[in-house]
Amino acid sequence: MKAAVLAGVKKLIVKDIPTPIPEENMALVKIKSCGICMTDYKAYSGARKNLDYPMIVGHEFSGVIETVGESIRFFRPGDEIIASPVSNCGICTNCRQGLTQYCKNGAVIGGDGMDRIIDGAFAEYVLVPENSLYYKPENLSFDAAALTEPLAGSYKGLIEYSQLKIAEDLVIIGAGSMGLLASMIAQKAGAASVIMIDVDDWRLNFSKNCGATDLINLTKKDPIQAVYSILPKGPDIVFEAAGPLSAAQLAFDLCRRGTRLNEFGVTTEGTINVSPAEIHWKETRVDASFSVYPRVMQQSIRLMEKGIVDPNKIITHRFNLDEIEEAMNTMKKSDRIKIIINP
Ligand SMILES: [Zn+2]
Ligand SMILES: [Zn+2]
Repeated sequence: MKAAVLAGVKKLIVKDIPTPIPEENMALVKIKSCGICMTDYKAYSGARKNLDYPMIVGHEFSGVIETVGESIRFFRPGDEIIASPVSNCGICTNCRQGLTQYCKNGAVIGGDGMDRIIDGAFAEYVLVPENSLYYKPENLSFDAAALTEPLAGSYKGLIEYSQLKIAEDLVIIGAGSMGLLASMIAQKAGAASVIMIDVDDWRLNFSKNCGATDLINLTKKDPIQAVYSILPKGPDIVFEAAGPLSAAQLAFDLCRRGTRLNEFGVTTEGTINVSPAEIHWKETRVDASFSVYPRVMQQSIRLMEKGIVDPNKIITHRFNLDEIEEAMNTMKKSDRIKIIINP
């Protein structure tokens, strides 16, 4: 099969490698569509250190089952599927607490955040364990289906953890894929205002089509003053979906009493200036959200199947596997949101 093998920093080589053979509970999936995540770009650019070359990245994908291992029970060749990049054992203490994204025996397909990383989906085929497979509804395109995992991530952070309720006021820092998916969910969940903060006007304007009600370019005005002039009582939720430490700092600085803060972006290592006393006196509710678990994958499929959220809105570029280097370089541009690889 053809695969984009990451052989080292900025060494992405498209070449023929043996097609893997599914054993036991694994399915071999022919990939139709795979999104590029910032963590994939960080693996390519060398910003991510926790990986061993050579490897194949790519963890946001959909496809069709080609063949199955002998102990696969519920899926058959020809089934159109969506995959969760996270597989889990169901038996370790983390799994039994419901924290399957932290499974001690799990693995992540082409992604980040777990000890075991297996080959990902920037290839013609990928192996997927059965409990990471979901049926793709017929009315969903493969491209939309590939964005199930990022949509599930935003849903988990905003709805399940930060518990956004109707008529609440939300600030999102970072108009990237995750911030825009969160904004679309917030609009449908009945947020009264969705204030989008970013450094780039193109992205801010783009977010108007994804539910943002107010736009703040923090390079042009003081974001705290700007938020409090729109919301004199301050935000109910601040959703930090950008990543730089300055964004995390801004998230804390925006809180009024009782604000729910979600440190959602894959944050840069380091520390910021936060006063525990201030958290106490303000009763700041500090939360975070990492990865996904089965319920939010299922809910994310539901959101798309019922037309509540359309992730096609954030797809700005499509490339084939041979063009993956160009696709990675497009990640650096500010006028892109989600890039899809169609092998
Ligand atoms: Zn991702
Ligand atoms: Zn487990």
